[in-house]
Amino acid sequence: MSFTTLGLSDAIVRAVTEAGYTQPTPIQTQAIPAVMNGGDLLAGAQTGTGKTAGFTLPIVHRLSTDKIGAGFTNKTSQRSIRALILAPTRELAAQVEESVRSYGKYTNLNSAVIFGGVGINPQIKQLKQGIDILVATPGRLLDHMEQRTVDLSKVEILILDEADRMLDMGFIRDIKKVLAALPPKRQNLLFSATFSEEIKALADGLLNKPAMIEV
Ligand code: AMP
Repeated sequence: MSFTTLGLSDAIVRAVTEAGYTQPTPIQTQAIPAVMNGGDLLAGAQTGTGKTAGFTLPIVHRLSTDKIGAGFTNKTSQRSIRALILAPTRELAAQVEESVRSYGKYTNLNSAVIFGGVGINPQIKQLKQGIDILVATPGRLLDHMEQRTVDLSKVEILILDEADRMLDMGFIRDIKKVLAALPPKRQNLLFSATFSEEIKALADGLLNKPAMIEV
């Protein structure tokens, strides 16, 4: 199995090859087709399995090759946040956004990362520049929502990364507020290393007939 046979676009395969990856990992082999076909996904995966690329690659593919993505003229006014990735910590959020940026470097998608503990004004400025893929920690995203400095009305894909850690850190209420602000018709992906009753309840409420993978 190669990244090309998984159906990823030439622009993405080129970026992946430059990153030095020759073969998809088992989670990537399973997650990439599942995400590319537009359905919901429940994935059990630890860090170190290549799970990040398992969702960033197909998201970048979908958004850069569909009608809107391929037709971009690079005008800020035409961009909107189409994929929202929530992650528990600033380190993970930064890492995920770096992955999006790296695999999307030969597409015209824009990404940004927002997290707490740093000034909000530079983030507001960045959000105004037109972002297709936003990576965020829940608390700071909520701050932006309350200040109306982020528009989530065009989100088509939601990803919860390390959902178990987000719940352990007490983000469930923030996550629910974010979910309530999103368009109801969207693709949802949930990644978690463990599956407590609380995670199962979250997955039940969020996912519609998900593909299930575990590595
Ligand atoms: P993750 O599980 O997403 O945190 O990724 C763990 C590490 O594996 C990261 O340093 C990635 O850069 C690397 N990685 C991801 N996909 C591949 C791949 N297909 N081949 C080799 N390394 C990879």
